[in-house]
Formats: sequence, C-alpha cells, structure tokens
Amino acid sequence: MDRREFLKSGILFSGLIAVSGGLISACANDNLAANFNSEDSAVNGNLLAVEGDDLPFEKVVKTDAEWKSILTPEQFEVTRKGGTEKPYSSPFNNLKKKGVFVCVCCDLPLFSSKTKFESNTGWASFYAPINKINVSEKLDETLSETRTEVLCSRCDAHLGHVFDDGPKPTGLRYCINGVAMKFIKA
Ligand SMILES: [Zn+2]
Repeated sequence: MDRREFLKSGILFSGLIAVSGGLISACANDNLAANFNSEDSAVNGNLLAVEGDDLPFEKVVKTDAEWKSILTPEQFEVTRKGGTEKPYSSPFNNLKKKGVFVCVCCDLPLFSSKTKFESNTGWASFYAPINKINVSEKLDETLSETRTEVLCSRCDAHLGHVFDDGPKPTGLRYCINGVAMKFIKA
C-alpha cells in the first residue's frame, strides 16, 4: 500500500518520519545531513500509525466563539476553517533564527528550525515535524488534486499540507502557514 492509499484507510496518524542509520550515513555529505542530529526526536521513530487515543496529551477542544476570542481573524480563518495565508506574506518564510515553532492555538511544539529549509514556495517549509506524534495528517480532497492536510494533533488546527517533494533526509515538504504558528527563539 502506498502513502496515499494508507491515508485513505482513514487512520489519523502522525507525520511519517523514517530515517534509518543507513540513510543518515548515505546523506553524510549532504548539507542538510551536516546539521542532522540522529538523537533529534524530529527524525527518530517508525512508520507507525498513532491512534488519537494514544496521544500523550489531552486534546484541546473549543467552540468557534472561544477560538475567535483568542485568535486574530486571519489565525482563526487558517487554523479553524482550513484557510491559506497569502504566499510570501509570513515573516517566518525567511526566518533563520534557531528555535521552535509552536501551534498558535494551543502552543504545542510543531516544527524545529533545524528542519526548516528554503522551498521558494512562499510558505514556511520543513522536512520533518519536531515530533511525529505532535502533527497529524488527513486526506484533503477539497481541490481536484488530492492533498495531505497537516494538523496540530492536540487542537486539530489546520497547519498546511505535506508533499513528497522535499529534501533529504525525509523527502517530505511540510508546507505550513506561518500564521498558524508562533516562534519561540532558542
Ligand atoms: Zn494546536
């Protein structure tokens, strides 16, 4: 079963991160691999489905009215209604500082600056989530082209989409709305 078929099975699962020691060695001369830390949780783990019940944190559930009271209109539209920010609009696109990007709705850490890369797409891009459990995926068939939606595992905020055309070591490109995140400088 390929990645898309697996998603179609309806299982909500965490970001797919499978990096074997062999792959790490094979990438030893790659720029990305140069900053690659095999101890980093962002790139450890297995290709396993994580059921919602197994999440190591309580889900955050709020009404639209409650979300509106703590989010800006754009944050609400993107995270709670599946919107997309204008390309090249986020100050995070060119941010080079070290730190962690957390969910703007519930503060769950989502992505590390360690896995951020320049995709020239107009949106902040990462090749892996900070932890495979913190980010979940769902099949998105709202457009004619089927895509894989990326959400915060704790509050189900819409973050963006993940594509299979990313750089080593994962080959994934998490294309994320900057407005869906806050940056915590290291
Ligand atoms: Zn969240």
